[in-house]
Amino acid sequence: MKNLKLVFALILTTTLSAQTSSKIYDIIKNVSANRIENDIQTLVNFGTRNTFSDTISNTRGIGAARRWIKKEFETISQSCNDCIDVFYQKDLVTKAGNRRVPHDAWVVNVVAIQKGTKYPNRYIIMSGDIDSRASNTMDFTTDAPGANDNASGMAGTIEAARVLSKYKFESSIVYVGLSGEEQGLFGGAGLAKYAKENNWDIIGVFNNDMIGNIKGVDGVIDNKTFRIFSEPVPANETEKQRQLRRFYGGEVDGISRQLARYVHENVKTYMPDMNPMMVYRLDRFGRGGHHRPFNDLGFAGIRIMEAHENYTQQHQDVREENGIKYGDVIEHVNFNYAKKLTAVNAINLASLAWAPPQPTNVAIGGIVEASAKLKWDKVDGAKGYKIYWRDTTSPTWDNSRYVENITEFTLDGIVIDNYFFGVSSVGENGFESVVVFPNKTFKN
Ligand SMILES: [Zn+2]
Repeated sequence: MKNLKLVFALILTTTLSAQTSSKIYDIIKNVSANRIENDIQTLVNFGTRNTFSDTISNTRGIGAARRWIKKEFETISQSCNDCIDVFYQKDLVTKAGNRRVPHDAWVVNVVAIQKGTKYPNRYIIMSGDIDSRASNTMDFTTDAPGANDNASGMAGTIEAARVLSKYKFESSIVYVGLSGEEQGLFGGAGLAKYAKENNWDIIGVFNNDMIGNIKGVDGVIDNKTFRIFSEPVPANETEKQRQLRRFYGGEVDGISRQLARYVHENVKTYMPDMNPMMVYRLDRFGRGGHHRPFNDLGFAGIRIMEAHENYTQQHQDVREENGIKYGDVIEHVNFNYAKKLTAVNAINLASLAWAPPQPTNVAIGGIVEASAKLKWDKVDGAKGYKIYWRDTTSPTWDNSRYVENITEFTLDGIVIDNYFFGVSSVGENGFESVVVFPNKTFKN
């Protein structure tokens, strides 16, 4: 009898995990390497997109570039009955007090929002950057094609909007071109502040910065691997939260890390030929990106990027020296790889925007007992929940159990001390939220 139950449970688990959505496969198929190539070429043709470059010309400089991006989003919106709101969000940066600002200028982001049908105030964000730079970041006149850094991320963001605008989602998706990245992450800081002021409930930010290079400075060529950077715990946590973590754990389980795990798992499921590589750090060693200003305000955010960088092809004037060709020119971008990373974004934007909100008030109990217990608040729109646990040394949520119509569960024989735990919500449609690590304890 007991064995029969076990067999049944196994069948049930297998069936659930084998359940994939054909819509997600369609999304992967519909991302176009050709359109990405065309858009990167258009962006490169603006000569320089330095944040402090010309804003009047219609053919050269950041002004022309952002007007083109805005028009492109508006065109996409027209073909989906105005399903996307497009606007500029801008902040003034001044020379005074900013070492890397050559003159006062507006840092202008292009924001495109596809409103959710059920949870319009919940936002999942994909970002690329409008701006580029030459060798000297203060130099706003020299050519700076920025084909990979970061026309690739920008083109991927526009292409994701084209593909996803054919669908309706429960939560809102934001496609954004950020500016002022190269001089101090100004655009990201501006939009993060805007989101906070407007009480956006942010599910997460996918910052795409360099998604088109497959040949590393070390000579390695790899068109399957990509990196997902995530900080361990929120940067703005309180001293009390830090103290509690010492006793209850969670050093590698902040909200950005859960978002990274979500992307990792979804890619493993739907794009099994890809090799997603989670990197347990905010960003590359000592370097920055546009997810950070969101992290600074306590929002979940990750950086998605190529695995192998080539330093002679980023932040360099286009030139030849001692037989080495420097410069971020379009010849080095692999459009098919950029297409794959765009698909990585698109399927995760879609999955999260189709999923119910993640559980709140997730609490854990079971201290000095044989079994761990979890409790959470009922999520409107959830059909069930998935309880996860993993070895403390494992980077991924390796064990799970699906439950329906309950808000409390005991994991028989699973000792609280030996694992980490989490809970996600699952919708009627099978889509799942990000896993929530318990942030409180209970006794009974
Ligand atoms: Zn850069």
